[in-house]
Amino acid sequence: MKKFILKNLFSIFGEKKKEQLRIITFHDILREDHDKFLNLIQYLKKNWNIITPDQSKNIINSKDLKDLKVNKKNILITFDDAFKSQKIITEKFLDPLNIKALFFIVSDFVKISSKDEAHKFIKKNFFKDQNLDHNIDLEANNMSLDDLRYLVSKGHTIGGHTKTHKQLSKIKDKDTLIKEIIDSKKFLENEIGIKIEDFAYTFGDLDSINKVSVDIIMKNFNYLYSGLRGNNSNISSKILRRDAVDMKEDFEVISAYLNGYVDLIYNKKLIKLEKWNC
Ligand SMILES: [Zn+2]
Repeated sequence: MKKFILKNLFSIFGEKKKEQLRIITFHDILREDHDKFLNLIQYLKKNWNIITPDQSKNIINSKDLKDLKVNKKNILITFDDAFKSQKIITEKFLDPLNIKALFFIVSDFVKISSKDEAHKFIKKNFFKDQNLDHNIDLEANNMSLDDLRYLVSKGHTIGGHTKTHKQLSKIKDKDTLIKEIIDSKKFLENEIGIKIEDFAYTFGDLDSINKVSVDIIMKNFNYLYSGLRGNNSNISSKILRRDAVDMKEDFEVISAYLNGYVDLIYNKKLIKLEKWNC
């Protein structure tokens, strides 16, 4: 029902002219969705200004968007979890278009060297509800450290996304929190030879976030990416909003999200989240 309403809203009102900095998130991109992914990127290229992670930070740090010679509708592409498919579509579609993205990496996932192990890891760690029987894409696999080095060599940015994809709000002891947040960052920095300043929450909903983990993250990273939808232009916080894109959703529904048709629903949650960073 909600999707039906969104689809119609977008069909009637279309692209909004409002000033925007949206950050979109992809997860595993199945082979059957490659064409749709390319169509979406081409649509965004036409209607939005696809920016680099650095340009996104310039906008966030700038008090006045008009100081920056950028379009009104800016969008940054991010990927979560370190699925192999993300490297494949980057090589195939993003690199030829010179689009730079931000990849949030689960550091234990990129250590895996067999598909069987990767599937076990996905089943064990990537779903919030362990009681449900989750279907895993048979082709799903993890990126390797060499894949990450490749992405960096192409000008993409690497961010942290914990060690084993734990739900941080549910962790009681500080040692585990430090392992998940800080040790995973150090491991990637040492292995790839980079500095990491971006961190994305696992699961991303407010229930998965709490003050203790926000404090540790903000001491060790410059930018925190949630999974709460919203516009990031003219915000005073370094806790950022993101729009998850489900490749199974209709194009109009994705566009409705990106144009902020559901942002109001997230306002209260965002206020609560930003208060934790004081
Ligand atoms: Zn994730």
